[in-house]
Amino acid sequence: KNYPALVRHGAGVFSEFIGSIPGSVAPLMLGIWNADDLDHNDVIFEPETDEVKYIISDGAEYLDCVSEYSAAMFGHSNPKILAAIQEAMNRGINLGGPGNDEVALAHSIKDRFRSIAKVRFCNSGSEANTMALALATHVTKKKKILAFENGYHGGFIQFDSNPSPTTIPHDFVLGRFNDIEYTRSLLSDEIAAIIVEPMQGAGGVSVATKAFLQFLRDAATKHKALLIFDEVVTSRLHINGLQGYFEVYPDLTTLGKYIGGGPSFGAFGGLVEVMEALDPKHSSPIHHSGTYNNNVFTMAAGVAAAKILTKEKISKANSLGDKVRDGINSAMKDYNTQLIEASGMGSMVGVRFSGPAQARLRDCLFFYMLSRGVYMGKRGFVSLNLTHEEKHIDQLLDSFYAFAQEVFGNCKW
Ligand code: PLP
Repeated sequence: KNYPALVRHGAGVFSEFIGSIPGSVAPLMLGIWNADDLDHNDVIFEPETDEVKYIISDGAEYLDCVSEYSAAMFGHSNPKILAAIQEAMNRGINLGGPGNDEVALAHSIKDRFRSIAKVRFCNSGSEANTMALALATHVTKKKKILAFENGYHGGFIQFDSNPSPTTIPHDFVLGRFNDIEYTRSLLSDEIAAIIVEPMQGAGGVSVATKAFLQFLRDAATKHKALLIFDEVVTSRLHINGLQGYFEVYPDLTTLGKYIGGGPSFGAFGGLVEVMEALDPKHSSPIHHSGTYNNNVFTMAAGVAAAKILTKEKISKANSLGDKVRDGINSAMKDYNTQLIEASGMGSMVGVRFSGPAQARLRDCLFFYMLSRGVYMGKRGFVSLNLTHEEKHIDQLLDSFYAFAQEVFGNCKW
């Protein structure tokens, strides 16, 4: 079986033929290829309208199970969103003032998320988190920020066991996700903000426990810190966000990705008294500005997207995700191995690898799935969208079962 040609760009090299590999995953096990330097950004995709299908330049077809890392909730190009964008474009691309779509999108966000009384738009989830932290330190007049190991709040706010070199140099202390006792030992009145994803995404698709979130809520209140939920990804799991699902409400929420209907988007909002610090009429020393914060393109797409999204659609995508997770986990049980485990919640599935060959295993799965026409995130990531159907899940799972048989069926691990 031939692996497809993946066309890559950068450094003057425009195409690289990844190779032709026999049906067995064995050559991959020898480490001929390494997926580490291969990312979805490196591959030129030609999506087919709103179908969950990518065509790579050589004509090979892939089922998209990444959904632009959760942002493509409405598929590649939903016709209603596309029409709304086109119509808005016809009215003017660069208008430079508030518009009706901006107001409508703000209302739809306020209606969905109980803790958001006022909201401001920006261009990415990274910006939303950056502004939320700046706002929290300003309002509380404190500096320390409690974040969590493996938290990802965007390109400039990310952690493994330490802040990454690109992380904005706030005075961070890092708790351990879902570890109440350890986190309790870090609490003090010096903390300005606690920022947490109700389900860590990039850090392994791990869902917070309600007890952990409630503990953070109580800790923030007790220490006069602001609790920030980063719902850039998790808000897609419930019509009221994971805050609504867990019934634990933050002071500030950050949003992004699909809520803008597809184009670049970010938003942050919450308590009136906190958000008012950014209101120009209060001549506050901190500002939130940005040329494209309310660009007509995103605002129109977001309004159209909000009309499409319903509880029922969210729950359909969630139940397909549950099917993926259950399918993977029950196959691993059948092979009596814990080397692969599916995590996450609803439409967001993490695939975790363990054991001494975990990096190999991860690469093997990624390439194997590609060979069967299934594109998943190479770190072990599946994000379903509203255009996925049962037949797509069957293709994904059948491919996974074939992989499991090749890897675990014949050899002892
Ligand atoms: N927060 C979370 C939880 C994310 O997963 C991401 C992106 O993946 C971001 C923030 C950053 O959003 P953006 O990529 O739009 O800057």
